[in-house]
Amino acid sequence: MLVYKFGGASINSPEGVCNLGKIVSKCNDNLIVVVSAMGKTTNMLEAVNAACFERNTDETLRILSGIEDYHYNMIEGLTEMSNPVREKLKSTIASSVNIVINFIENNKNYDFDYCYGQIVSLGELLSSAIVNEYVNSTVKISELVDARSFITTDSLFREANVYFDKTEKKLADIFSFRNNVNCYITQGFIGSNPNGDTTTLGREGSDYSAAIIASLTEANSLTIWKDVPGVLNADPKLFSETKLLPELSYKDAAELSYYGAQVMHQKTIKPLVNKNIPLYVKSFACIELPGTSISSKKRLQDIPVIAIKKNQILISILPKDFSFALEDVLIENLLILQRYRLKIHLIQSTPLCISFCVDDGRNTRLAIDELRIDGLVQYNDNLELITIRNYTENLIAQYSGNREKLIMQRDRSTVRILLKDFCGTP
Ligand code: ASP
Ligand code: MG
Repeated sequence: MLVYKFGGASINSPEGVCNLGKIVSKCNDNLIVVVSAMGKTTNMLEAVNAACFERNTDETLRILSGIEDYHYNMIEGLTEMSNPVREKLKSTIASSVNIVINFIENNKNYDFDYCYGQIVSLGELLSSAIVNEYVNSTVKISELVDARSFITTDSLFREANVYFDKTEKKLADIFSFRNNVNCYITQGFIGSNPNGDTTTLGREGSDYSAAIIASLTEANSLTIWKDVPGVLNADPKLFSETKLLPELSYKDAAELSYYGAQVMHQKTIKPLVNKNIPLYVKSFACIELPGTSISSKKRLQDIPVIAIKKNQILISILPKDFSFALEDVLIENLLILQRYRLKIHLIQSTPLCISFCVDDGRNTRLAIDELRIDGLVQYNDNLELITIRNYTENLIAQYSGNREKLIMQRDRSTVRILLKDFCGTP
């Protein structure tokens, strides 16, 4: 049995969905297909959630109706489906959108993260409904499975932790491949907590969902179909010359995704390692290309790999009274950062100062306020963290240019440089 995952960019148009159908039709094995929301739907739904949080009902409804139209147009473009199938699908879309509108109109719990789960999950529900209907009516018998019926999580909305044992118990009965069904379609990114509320696993979390499913069903492999030829040594949106990395070890892939390479969601590798399931990253547009294969055996070649994290902030904390005990201050501050769910990308310490580099997001400023209670806090924002594996002095000069370096840390293979504002492709 195989697991395929298709990201939003690969199914952002009717041609994309047809292409998914072609890839699925070529698979002779039992198959579970995991889909993300189509195109930029998740970004738009995040805007719906923000408008809803500000109680801006007009704006909420305006964006939602744009999302609905986008999916109607998608269905219209899938001309291989019969008219009755298309009409049925449109009413499925309308009722899913209505569930969200009803939620927004009647909801009394204004917790941002809770609402996010109930609203932003719509993208995956819509895309999976369309993909399933398309596959089932034109490619092969398929069945739609609601991921919330088996991906069981805690209630950490927006970044929920999956309960693997509970998920495994539910999943065995669901993906039974009985009654001629040899293809299931389900959603990435979403799950549910024990109350039945919808939770999400973090942006780009569909890769992680697919890895969980592959691991718990003991699939032969997981393939992530992407709009790039495989894992590249740099983001092609930022660098004009990139190279394909044909083979990677799990360790390399996990490290690269941590550093911010556009490889896959950070948590994807762990469930696969536990069961030794190979991961293939392949081109959605050219399916005959070999792509990248990731497993326990493979090693990163000597090709330099460049990963960039934008919108970073460096928070520096100094004790108010010089009474600096590094370990104590470190632990106290780490607990605060953890409470605000900030991911630390780099730590630097001097006798009288600890600095953390984290994403500059909604919670960051709240965390800074709390850190200020016991320490003097300064910060630098609008930073960029560049990591170069297999670096050379030339590469460091080339990628950091004339920009001010706030921090540079290096070991034998990897250098990490925190820089002021990125101003375009070097
Ligand atoms: N649709 C979600 C996102 O855009 C999840 C995913 O794509 O993996 O973040
Ligand atoms: Mg995506």
